Amino acid sequence: MASSETVIPKNSGKAFIVKKGRIMRVHGESTADFVVFNARDVDERFDQARTKVDQGKIYVTTGDLLISKFNTVMMTIVEDTYEGTHDMEKGMCSTSFYKKWGDQIFEIYGETWKKLGREKVVAPKHGCWENLAAALKSYKIKKADVPSPLNIFQTMVIDGVTGSMRYAMTRPRPGGDHMDLRAEMDCLVGISACPEGGRGKPLTITIYDK
Ligand SMILES: [Zn+2]
Repeated sequence: MASSETVIPKNSGKAFIVKKGRIMRVHGESTADFVVFNARDVDERFDQARTKVDQGKIYVTTGDLLISKFNTVMMTIVEDTYEGTHDMEKGMCSTSFYKKWGDQIFEIYGETWKKLGREKVVAPKHGCWENLAAALKSYKIKKADVPSPLNIFQTMVIDGVTGSMRYAMTRPRPGGDHMDLRAEMDCLVGISACPEGGRGKPLTITIYDK
């Protein structure tokens, strides 16, 4: 039975406490930038590299773990309906990212975006870094200490030989897909509904009772 449901409007963020053993559902039709802290010691936080190296893979799905820099399991993915992969290469979009790299980003990723029906990048005024920093501020987390996230529902095509990467055409299904994560410690979770350069949508977050 659901204990709480929260909508995160597009290009904004929210923070949640998820007690050990509880399950959190992230449901959406566009990217969720997802970060985790140990709620009892926020110096301990999600680490993209540990999560990849400790499990010998660059993609996570059902049965896989989110791991902290201290090599502790923070959350387990217990359900994943998305047909694509979730990104752990990219960091967060941000004001500086959109401002500084707007044109170059279009050169790198524009081909895929054109296929998705967008002729030009619509650079938002702010991005996921600002959203997460604002959401986590009341927990005394500095902007610079927001870790690179798990980008849920963001599929990148990575060339295994050259290392080049681009956005895939894969998207969540109409109506949305979801990922369920079980907290393996008392977690502070920050989530941003990524603006995705203008096409981002809201997310729905549910925390279930045990
Ligand atoms: Zn973003």
